[in-house]
Amino acid sequence: MWNIYQAYIDGTFVPVQGSERLEIVNPATEQVIGTVTLANRDDAKRAIDAANRAQPGLAGSTKAQRIEMLKRLEAAVLARTDQICEATIEEYGGPLARSQWVSNYASQCFASTARMLQDYVFERRLGDATVVMEPVGVAGLIAPWNSTAGSICSKLASAIAAGCASVVKPSELGPLQAQVVTEALHDAGLPAGVVNVLLGRGGDVGDEISTNPGIAKISFTGSTQTGKLIARAGLDTMKRVSLALSGKSATVILDDADLVAVLPMALNAAFMNNGQACVAGTRLLIPNVHMTQAIERLQATVTAMRVGDPRDAATAVGPLASKAQFERVQHFIRRGLAQGATLVAGGEGRPDGLDKGWFVRPTVFADVRNDMDIAREEIFGPVLSVIGYDDEDEAVAIANDSVYGLQAYVFSSQPMRALGVASRLRAGTVLVNRITPELIAPFGGVKQSGIGREFGIFGMEAFLEPKTIAIPNGLVLPRQAA
Ligand code: NAD
Repeated sequence: MWNIYQAYIDGTFVPVQGSERLEIVNPATEQVIGTVTLANRDDAKRAIDAANRAQPGLAGSTKAQRIEMLKRLEAAVLARTDQICEATIEEYGGPLARSQWVSNYASQCFASTARMLQDYVFERRLGDATVVMEPVGVAGLIAPWNSTAGSICSKLASAIAAGCASVVKPSELGPLQAQVVTEALHDAGLPAGVVNVLLGRGGDVGDEISTNPGIAKISFTGSTQTGKLIARAGLDTMKRVSLALSGKSATVILDDADLVAVLPMALNAAFMNNGQACVAGTRLLIPNVHMTQAIERLQATVTAMRVGDPRDAATAVGPLASKAQFERVQHFIRRGLAQGATLVAGGEGRPDGLDKGWFVRPTVFADVRNDMDIAREEIFGPVLSVIGYDDEDEAVAIANDSVYGLQAYVFSSQPMRALGVASRLRAGTVLVNRITPELIAPFGGVKQSGIGREFGIFGMEAFLEPKTIAIPNGLVLPRQAA
């Protein structure tokens, strides 16, 4: 049984002052596997103070020193890869392949950030001025439950590269992954206060981070609803905010695509991480001329999908993370039926033979109109809405008719044609004939899917601000030590 009751503040694990206890439940079995005691506002204030004490030292560190820190973090997190994977499966039912991928990514993002930093130039000349990219100050890093290890590590890598000490608030629903990752961060032996981690409620610890004058920057990943609260809360102290938010991504299959090859990829994009992914391609746009054939294939594939034990490599869809998630998905399946969509596979309730655990039936709806709730709202479960279109212009119009714009997918046998469609889609990322992301390229959303970008150079620059120093002609600032 897990018993998590400490926060990581000023380089030490300390018992939290908060007293609220939550049970940690394995979603595949519904068994209680531990408890977590949540930090409170006072804990958050202590963590913010510690980060502020560490900030001048980190801001003054050289590029070489930051690269060294990133390498130590990479090694420490790499050593815990298996534990992170295990926690991801145990705590929220991440399917094996996905859990392995996220646990590998947790260390890789430190390595790729160190490589990027090597070549980054913090000073440049513009006319008479020297422009210096300076760390924005102490950062609050707030993460969602569906990407605990990845969000913590990726945000932290960018913050440290920029020279920002951090207060990290993982989701209170991801305590095991947060604990394992924090132990790794501690093992890296960074100066005290550079990284602080505490688990607490959003309305309490999260709100303290969003309003405290000791925080200069918020990097948030989570729902659009919470992102709006955080942006409003940060306004009084004029915090810089990066918001990575919800999505309702469209997958556009063009009429020249090979359905046999691309439909499995489209299904993977829709059901990745048990459908609990911000980038899930949950609106599948198919040319009406190919609709009958496509629906037959989707029905056969999804009906045969293995739902069950997330540890089993043959499992396509594991349990949802919680009872609340299970209920949410049931609600949307009922909405789809009520609003007239045609059920092609799946439906309400648990799959046959699974009477315990938050398992749902992978579901496909056909005859979906883009104004139905199942096409407009982020369901966050394995529910796919298939929408027909007649020509490319209509496909683009439907794909763009959403308040969200995080990621889109285009499939075609003619790459140049697909690129033409990609250029017309309003999304932060468009993946063409692939569903794997490029993790050093900027990632983020347009419209209500977010503000700002993460990963690579753009991710680090979100923690930097340019300072202009104009001096008489001919004089230049001494270069920053390498
Ligand atoms: P959420 O918005 O409920 O919570 C995210 C985090 O914010 C948690 O740590 C939570 O405790 C905290 N929080 C809640 N209220 C707060 C407040 N008032 N002030 C400060 N912090 C607060 O999201 P979730 O359910 O944990 O995650 C799922 C959502 O995240 C989905 O909408 C998904 O699309 C989105 N997401 C987006 C990305 C992306 O990169 N765009 C990645 C993963 C998840």
